[in-house]
Amino acid sequence: MSESLAGRLARRIERDGPMPLAEFMALSNGAYYAGRDPFGRGGDFTTAPEISQMFGEIVGLWCVAAWECLGRPANVRLIELGPGRGALMADALRAARLEPEFRPEVHLVEASPVLRSLQRAQGFDAVWHDRLETIPDGPCIWIANEFFDALPVRQFVRIGGCWHERLVDREGDGFRFVAAPALRRAGAGEDGDIAEMSPAATAMAASLAARPGYGLAIDYGYVEPPGRPTLQAVRNHRPVDPLSRPGEADMSAHVDFAALMRAAREAGGAVWGPAPQGEWLRRLGIEARAARLGGQEDALARLVGEDAMGRLFRVLAFAPVGAPAPAGFLDGEGG
Ligand code: SAH
Repeated sequence: MSESLAGRLARRIERDGPMPLAEFMALSNGAYYAGRDPFGRGGDFTTAPEISQMFGEIVGLWCVAAWECLGRPANVRLIELGPGRGALMADALRAARLEPEFRPEVHLVEASPVLRSLQRAQGFDAVWHDRLETIPDGPCIWIANEFFDALPVRQFVRIGGCWHERLVDREGDGFRFVAAPALRRAGAGEDGDIAEMSPAATAMAASLAARPGYGLAIDYGYVEPPGRPTLQAVRNHRPVDPLSRPGEADMSAHVDFAALMRAAREAGGAVWGPAPQGEWLRRLGIEARAARLGGQEDALARLVGEDAMGRLFRVLAFAPVGAPAPAGFLDGEGG
């Protein structure tokens, strides 16, 4: 598996030459998620739904509100992209039972067999898909928490005033970046600058925006370009060199929300936000829920705290053009 992934990648590079970073990342993450449960203290990282049930509950009530904005369609599909252990969906469906008439058909987009079986063990009815495309059309509400950051990125480096794509070559027992032949002359900037983009993420945003309904993309990311590459790899809650452990570390990049927003609008949708996660959760009543549950002080601080997930994580909502504001957003924050 992981050992052999590094070996397989090395053999392929030997045969075909250096490969684009996006391909290396797709193969690495495919193998990484296929073979393990990466979440929590014993794993590599912890996500919001794993911190507290409050996160999924609020998302579930948001879904009910979105369904009301759609006119309460009977045949609504509730889609989750990259559901991890399935905790978010389980909490969301439990909270959504407050509205007994909201009875969505649940569709999960998940490539990993290990994670699919953990999701199945949550006990709710669902249909699994490898890709979004096999989910039937029709009114939908979709959620994606820490999904877009896992989609492959391409990088370009400025050398001698020109942009070159960064490829992955083998070096000894490991891997290193090399530059492809020049693509085109670069504009302003300096040699050594690195540009990053995720065509997989923008294509996904466009496909989602083309469906009639509301959606939520929650992730760490930026609207203003950070001026540096954000590709990272995490193993045992610690950063490691992104090329050093294909298939054994979680590779991700910060989400370019401005690019998702452009793609969604070009596909005919409207977008709201992105709002900082902390503010969005507060607007939807997380503090009252925490008080009611009790014992949630640490979880609340992690989910909404400015130095924790509250500011780095953002919530971008998709909606039909002209439809009411999604819950947690104010008039004027979208369109
Ligand atoms: N949403 C969950 C898990 C986030 S981790 C949570 O918040 O806890 C990323 C998830 O996306 C995993 O379930 C992983 O298997 C899935 N995933 C990553 N890339 C994918 C792809 N290209 N297609 C389908 N699922 C993918």
